Amino acid sequence: MRLPKFAYLVPKTVGEAVKMMGEAGPSGQFVAGGTDLYPNMKRRQQTPRVVISVGRVEELRRVEGDGREGLRIGAGVSLTELIEHPVVNRDYPAVARAARLISTPTLRNMGTVGGNLLLDTRCNYYDQNYEWRRAVNFCMKKDGDICWVAPGSSKCWAVQSSDLVPLMVAIGARLRLVSTVGDRVIEARGFYNDDGIDYLHKRPEELLTEIHLPPAAGWRAVYKKLRRRGAFDFPVLGVAARLDSAEDGTVKEARVVLGGISPAPLEVEAAGRALVGARLGEESIRAAAEAAYLRARPLDNTDHLMNYRKQMARPFVRRALEELRHA
Ligand SMILES: Cc1cc2nc3c(=O)[nH]c(=O)nc-3n(C[C@H](O)[C@H](O)[C@H](O)COP(=O)(O)OP(=O)(O)OC[C@H]3O[C@@H](n4cnc5c(N)ncnc54)[C@H](O)[C@@H]3O)c2cc1C
Ligand code: SF4
Repeated sequence: MRLPKFAYLVPKTVGEAVKMMGEAGPSGQFVAGGTDLYPNMKRRQQTPRVVISVGRVEELRRVEGDGREGLRIGAGVSLTELIEHPVVNRDYPAVARAARLISTPTLRNMGTVGGNLLLDTRCNYYDQNYEWRRAVNFCMKKDGDICWVAPGSSKCWAVQSSDLVPLMVAIGARLRLVSTVGDRVIEARGFYNDDGIDYLHKRPEELLTEIHLPPAAGWRAVYKKLRRRGAFDFPVLGVAARLDSAEDGTVKEARVVLGGISPAPLEVEAAGRALVGARLGEESIRAAAEAAYLRARPLDNTDHLMNYRKQMARPFVRRALEELRHA
């Protein structure tokens, strides 16, 4: 599979990058590590004529702050840099651990935090080469007009498949987006849209510049991932949880978020409610796991049977919470 022809631009600053994107218009797309975009271009799923690489923009490579004041991670920081960063490991160990579960060492050297948070949604009927997709007359997400997973559906069910997304939503990260029109910071929690085609509440010309993590005191977080091959695969179920506890150990606030089963990360509010008001124990963990099982409704469009992925929500939530209980 070969890349199509495209113009390649290399800005040095955020200002230059967004100006170039403004000039390129709808035919432009940013690229960071390219580990998602370039395979997609080879499969003709995404076909920008102007690719604007942000790899040389120094402003995007910084990590500033700490667990006391909160951490600002540049969108262009590589996954390896994130995993190895001493402050991330000390103050946000769940973030470093989740990033370590992404793909392979080589891909983590190239892949960035920003690219991971903006990853295209995935589906067995979409992540195929052009000839394969043409042979089935394409699908709604690209070039076609039917969904092969749910043929009666007017919506695409391609799956949000990033490992960092559910965790960022659970811990209350915020994202800074910049364009020629201005600058805004929004909650990761409201950023993802439950539609496999239109999966981000982001304008195409906006550049993700920073990820803001909240101060680290008073809460703990965890991420668990289900995949076939431990050394390599995308999540087909991800479980992120954040617990805020009072001094006596009572859970004051709890968030349980599932990834890898729907077009957007799914917050299971009933699971959070089951955990609040008591110390983390057998009973509340079981209730939260049951709530997650009931809400998980994966479709048959990734690896593993959908029923198996639903069933696994229960033990994965239980394991995540047990880990927090014993942390
Ligand atoms: C074999 C393989 C296995 C993988 N396994 C996993 C896995 O287990 N878990 C997982 O989460 N991911 C996985 N990935 C996906 C990918 O490698 C990572 O998500 C990586 O972090 C993507 O980052 P990138 O910088 O390479 O993104 P890119 O490919 O550069 O970009 C991804 C998307 O984000 C946009 N973009 C990038 N940066 C910006 C920015 N700053 N502002 C605006 N738009 C931007 C691009 O336009 C593109 O749409 C895998 C990929 C491969 C090829
Ligand atoms: S969920 Fe349906 S429309 Fe979306 S990529 Fe898969 S087959 Fe295509």
